[in-house]
Amino acid sequence: MIFDAHGDIWTDVTQKRMNGERNIIKKFHLDKYKEGKVDAGIFVIWIDPPFDKNPKSRLLEILRNMSVEINDNRDIIKIVKSFKDFKIAKEENKFGAMIGLEGLSYIEEDDGTIDALYNFGARHASLTWNEENKLATGVKGNQDRGLTDLGKVIIKRMEKLGMLVDVSHANQKSFWDIASLATNPIIASHSNCKKLCDHPRNLTDEQIKEIKNLGGIIGINAFPDFIHKDKEKRNIENLASHIDYIVGLAGIEHVGFGFDFCDFLTGDTMASFAEDSEETVKGLENVSKVPKLISILSQKGYSEKDIEKIKSGNFMRIIKEIVS
Ligand SMILES: [Zn+2]
Repeated sequence: MIFDAHGDIWTDVTQKRMNGERNIIKKFHLDKYKEGKVDAGIFVIWIDPPFDKNPKSRLLEILRNMSVEINDNRDIIKIVKSFKDFKIAKEENKFGAMIGLEGLSYIEEDDGTIDALYNFGARHASLTWNEENKLATGVKGNQDRGLTDLGKVIIKRMEKLGMLVDVSHANQKSFWDIASLATNPIIASHSNCKKLCDHPRNLTDEQIKEIKNLGGIIGINAFPDFIHKDKEKRNIENLASHIDYIVGLAGIEHVGFGFDFCDFLTGDTMASFAEDSEETVKGLENVSKVPKLISILSQKGYSEKDIEKIKSGNFMRIIKEIVS
């Protein structure tokens, strides 16, 4: 199994369905996933700009569109709600998709929304995308502001329900607030190392070590801006260096993939956060290229057992523990 902890597939499903397209996963994504041998992952509900001004209505719009797509594609996709669902998906030769929530800007009070989304199937959430909201503060918010009291209530509720808590996109203060509150392992589903690429979305050495101490996982991101400051060096080899760095600092048990491929997103959405919305990582342009990364790891001397952990074993370990 190859597990990708971050995919914006529901965003593409919603955008394309609203333009009149149908069967988006089959038409635009399935072949690339099969070629890449990526057969499981987290697909997130992300309140994409410019719709972030009205997050509640965008949430409903995404839920409606993804629901129809899921029901129309039961032959190829299984929505996984527990560890054993991944095994069932594999046996049925379907993609095992966990529903994730990237940012909870639509939650403004302790009103049961997180339970409603859990019952809809969500098993993962980050409290913010980049923004400052009622729960926490993202990397683009006030750096002196962290997790709020309501944010604490939501984290506790997520732990009780059995949801993965994701700190990618949290600012420094929110990260440390969440880390000190959490009793389960936390994940940074799609972030790289600040030492190798100084970007606010990447993790400091202290953060990487803290995630390790809590038993969590970091998913390495294939978003060009997070690989290297120098545009010429945004390639698959330098992405693999981020894996080496985490292994060196935290060990083999705490790294996985959270590719965040954006090759299918439109320029308007991308322009709101990417330096160059057309750019992709050389050698790892989309999900079909993942086997190339696996062979680079093997050439670097990672054993088959270690590669298995990076591919899916590490994420499966904590999903078994938390989502069960
Ligand atoms: Zn993201």
